[in-house]
Amino acid sequence: MTQDEQYMQLAIAEAAKAAAEGEIPVGAVVVRRGEVVAAAHNRREGGKNALAHAECLAIQEACRIRGGWRLWDCDLYVTMEPCPMCAGAIINSRIRRVVYGVSDAKAGCCGSVTDLFSLPFNHRPEVTAGVCAEEITPLVQDFFAKLREELKTRPRWRKPADAETGSRAPKPETNQAAPQEEAL
Ligand SMILES: [Zn+2]
Repeated sequence: MTQDEQYMQLAIAEAAKAAAEGEIPVGAVVVRRGEVVAAAHNRREGGKNALAHAECLAIQEACRIRGGWRLWDCDLYVTMEPCPMCAGAIINSRIRRVVYGVSDAKAGCCGSVTDLFSLPFNHRPEVTAGVCAEEITPLVQDFFAKLREELKTRPRWRKPADAETGSRAPKPETNQAAPQEEAL
């Protein structure tokens, strides 16, 4: 097993924790000079927070542990291709290298939807794709297959009527009735 694969195994373990919590399985670890400084998994549903992606949480923890926002000498391992928010966080934290597993055709910003790291921002991390992808793919597919089964037995979520008429803003609780359905 290569060193990249070893660190990716830790990210996969984080992704499995997310799946066990009913979250889309994404896990991330930040490694500095051979040492894991932070590990996190997607907590968007549990944290009721659109920003609680695995990469952002891991970067936040790494900044806290390192005592600063510059992660020049840190590498990020993540099971899925980073989204625009996380790719932005990677640029802003100056992560040296990004290693990811599977591509994300709907939100991936390392080449799938766009490639933010090829644009002339002030920082450009090195990228390695496809590490342990054959192991991560079934983890993600199983999660969505189970979710689809579950959703069949649940009443389908509809946009609240008042949101459609625009008469007033939807109540936060009713607007959150369908976790993850939009992610299918
Ligand atoms: Zn993200």
